[in-house]
Amino acid sequence: METKVYAIDAKCPEFSSLARAAEVIKSGGLVAFPTETVYGLGANGLNPSAVAKIFKAKGRPSDNPLILHIADSFEVEKLVRLVPANARVLMEKFWPGPLTLVLKRTLAVPDEVTGGLDTVAIRLPDSLVARELIRLAGVPIAAPSANTSGRPSPTTAQAVLADLDGKISIVVDAGPCGIGVESTVVDCTTPVPTLLRPGGVTLEKLLAVLGEIELDAALNSESAVPRAPGMKYTHYAPLAPMVLYEGDESNISAAIVNAATIAMTSKRVGAVVSTETAALLPPKVAVAAYGSRQCPEEVAAGLYQALRAFDSNPVDVIYAEGIAEIGLGLAVMNRMRKAAGYRIVNC
Ligand code: AMP
Ligand code: MG
Repeated sequence: METKVYAIDAKCPEFSSLARAAEVIKSGGLVAFPTETVYGLGANGLNPSAVAKIFKAKGRPSDNPLILHIADSFEVEKLVRLVPANARVLMEKFWPGPLTLVLKRTLAVPDEVTGGLDTVAIRLPDSLVARELIRLAGVPIAAPSANTSGRPSPTTAQAVLADLDGKISIVVDAGPCGIGVESTVVDCTTPVPTLLRPGGVTLEKLLAVLGEIELDAALNSESAVPRAPGMKYTHYAPLAPMVLYEGDESNISAAIVNAATIAMTSKRVGAVVSTETAALLPPKVAVAAYGSRQCPEEVAAGLYQALRAFDSNPVDVIYAEGIAEIGLGLAVMNRMRKAAGYRIVNC
């Protein structure tokens, strides 16, 4: 299959390109499209055989459920049995935006979307391109990130093509995604809402609105079984083994410079680090800087590009620098620990 790229303006999307992409969705095909978080791999969320194509193209385990993307909040009504009061508050406050809500599903939602669970994950994205595409398709669009399973999520159309060229019909290219990490997933079927995955809406913002929120046990323990099935899988991994340094800022920098300087005598060394640490590394180290560690938004936006930087410039080992778990830093560190396969050095 030839994959076509439709380049469009993110702020003023051209109708005819999106209409053609929507036709592909309606007829059961796959379209990769931008959202404010990462690029999604979309199919008609009410068509089981279209949804099955997503799992095949990505090599995604079938028990890892998909998020349904909608264009207007009233569309939740036919997909869920009940919208509890706390979910209603979250929708009003954070939709459209990078927040996914897990709710009890109706029979309108196919088992293929939910991995057989009696709940469904739903999001109303802020991206105008995404919402126009959903509106034109006239159905909820099921969409995980548009990468091969296990790899870093794509934040550009080029990263989508690197994984899925030839496997999907269309990539809608509206440039790089603004946020750069996936949506926050909150389970609203528990008496107190539960954070299943940190993401684009920060824990601080959720707490300010809800007053209380539980954290899924698996967020702080490698051994607990996560309630978001996808959180148990290896994810976001670059091609070379990665070691993550966490702790005090200046200790991390010194430890990475030290480890890289020793390793580079016998290995090709890569570093996924802040611009601050990048400036301290010897020139022989291949550096992918994700932005300033003082700005978690910048780090989130640059993280997946940095994790993919060594795909075309292979290295034997990657040293990565952790940041403080404040704001988007919580989502960033969740992704980095997984990308490192929990090989962590505490500084
Ligand atoms: P992705 O779209 O690949 O970014 O992943 C979506 C995340 O939401 C994964 O971690 C899924 O396991 C999780 N998820 C989707 N549907 C549900 C659900 N019904 N209950 C709990 N977690 C879900
Ligand atoms: Mg994903």
